[in-house]
Amino acid sequence: MNTIENEDFNQKTVLVRVDFNVPLNDQFEVTDSTRIHAAKPTIETLVKSGAKCVLLTHLGRPKGPDPDLSLKHIVPEVSKILGQRVHFSEQTIGKQAVEMITNQAFGEVILMENLRFFSEETQGEKNFARALADLGDAYVNDAFGTAHRAHASTAIIADFFPKDKYFGMLLKGEVEAIQQVMETGKKPVLAIIGGAKVSSKLTILESLLDNIDDLIIGGGMVYTFIQAQGGSVGDSICEPDLKETALSLLEKATKKNVRVHLPIDVKIADAFDNEAQIKTAPVSEIPDNWMALDCGPKSLESFGDVVRQAKTILWNGPLGVFEMERFAEGTIGLGKQIASSTAQGAYSLVGGGDSVAAVKRFGLENQMSYVSTGGGAMLESLEGKQLPGIAALLS
Ligand code: AMP
Repeated sequence: MNTIENEDFNQKTVLVRVDFNVPLNDQFEVTDSTRIHAAKPTIETLVKSGAKCVLLTHLGRPKGPDPDLSLKHIVPEVSKILGQRVHFSEQTIGKQAVEMITNQAFGEVILMENLRFFSEETQGEKNFARALADLGDAYVNDAFGTAHRAHASTAIIADFFPKDKYFGMLLKGEVEAIQQVMETGKKPVLAIIGGAKVSSKLTILESLLDNIDDLIIGGGMVYTFIQAQGGSVGDSICEPDLKETALSLLEKATKKNVRVHLPIDVKIADAFDNEAQIKTAPVSEIPDNWMALDCGPKSLESFGDVVRQAKTILWNGPLGVFEMERFAEGTIGLGKQIASSTAQGAYSLVGGGDSVAAVKRFGLENQMSYVSTGGGAMLESLEGKQLPGIAALLS
C-alpha cells in the first residue's frame, strides 16, 4: 500500500480526491462537517511536507452546472477546519484551472469546483480523467465514501499516475479497519447485523460467514428468520419470499460453525408510532395487528454475553427503530455493550449507514475503535468486493 506519511511532496502539486459531499442548509451553510474533519490529517500532512494541495470532490447530484451545488459555499468551513485560507477555483479543469493552481504558492490549498458538474465524472470518462490529471504531479485518494464507484476522479485518474498514486490517511484507516475484522481479527469474531431488510444484507451475511464465530441478527431482518422457522410475527416487517434463503443461511452458518443469535423477546407496538401502545413479547409470538420495533430486555442481556466475550466486533445496522425514542433502547444498550467491550480491549468497527448515525446520536462514537465514514463503500467491502477506487491504487 503506497501511503503518504513517509513521502516527500516538497514543491509538488498534489491532487487529493476528498469526499466533501456534505449537507447544506437553506443558507448554504455546512450542517455536518464530519467528512471535512476526516480528510484533515491527509491535507495537513501534505501541506507540512511542502505540497500544494488541489482538492477534488463532488457535492450532491447535479445534472450539470448548478449554483446551489457550487463548492464555493463550503470554502469558509473548509478554511476554518484546516486553519488556513482555502482558495477556490471556479473552473474544475482546463487552462484557467491550471493557471489558478500555478499562481498559488506551495503550502497552499485550492478547492476545485464540483466534479459532478461534468457528466464525464460519473461516466468514468478517460479524457476527463486526463484533464484532471493535468492539474498536478501526484494523486492521493482519500475519499472512502466514493471508493466503490469507478468514476473519473476516484479510479480512472490513477492510470495517469502509475508511480505517484497514494492512499490518503483516511482511506488507509478504513482499509485497515476492514482488514482487522475480515482477515486479522482476534477470535472470537462477532458480527452484529441489524437494519430493516434481509434483502439488502444477504450478500454481506453470506460473505461474513467465512470470517466470523458469532452472528447477532437484529432489527427488522429478524422477522423473516422467525417466520421462516414457523413463528408468528404479526405486522412486523417481513419478507416471506426470502423464507428459503433465510433458512439456508442458518444452515450454512451451522455448517461453518458460526453461532447465530436471534432476539428472545421484543418490544411490540400497535402502530409504527412513538406514541403507540407498547408491550414485550416472545419473538415468535407476536400477536396479529402488533409489530416488533425493538429488541426486549432478555435479548439485550443475552446479546451482552456474546458481546462481552468477543475480541473483534463488527456492527452494521440498528437493533430497532432507533429514530423513535421509545424504540431506541435496544440500539443504545447494544452500543453501550460494545463500548464497554472495547474498553476491555476488544476491537470494534461500526460501519455502514444507520449504525454510524446511531452511535453518533447516542454519543458513543469515541468509544468505538473505528467508526467508518463510508456507507455504501463499507457495505461493499464487507460483502468481500474489491472497490474500484482501491483497486486503482494497488494496480
Ligand atoms: P438499514 O439501512 O438496512 O441498516 O436499516 C436501518 C433502518 O432499519 C432504520 O431506519 C431502522 O428504523 C430500521 N429498523 C430497525 N429495526 C426495525 C424494525 N423492527 N422494524 C422496522 N424497521 C426497523
